[in-house]
Amino acid sequence: MRALVLAMLLAACSSTLTYPPPPYEVSGVLVVYEERRDLKAPSAATWSKGLPVVLWNPFEWAKLAPVEKVFDLAHEVCHLRDWTGGELAADCCAVRWMDRADYLPSSDLAALVSTIMDWPASAEGHPPGIERATHIMECLDDD
Ligand SMILES: [Zn+2]
Repeated sequence: MRALVLAMLLAACSSTLTYPPPPYEVSGVLVVYEERRDLKAPSAATWSKGLPVVLWNPFEWAKLAPVEKVFDLAHEVCHLRDWTGGELAADCCAVRWMDRADYLPSSDLAALVSTIMDWPASAEGHPPGIERATHIMECLDDD
């Protein structure tokens, strides 16, 4: 079941481009993907019974562009790998991973950053999109 959900997520990512698999393990433990239709966001990261879990809402997920889907998954897995850094650190970790995996052509980066710029701040601690977009560009420059 887990493998099936992961395969579905990856299939959803690869409509037009070939995507690398997301960094889907944390300290050697496979990330569990759990469908949550009541989730207000496309995805969220949590730990459950000692396992790293990415909750995802298929309806919200369907609204994302392919590059956003990869970013979204990578961002959640980055949270699971390091809880201490917060949202900006997870963003930085996600785009650096995408860049290293050769999956961030400049056209996709431009589209991703311009989308993120419009994202509002959230009650869960996400800074305003403009701050996130700025930080993403800085952290790619520093890499
Ligand atoms: Zn986050």
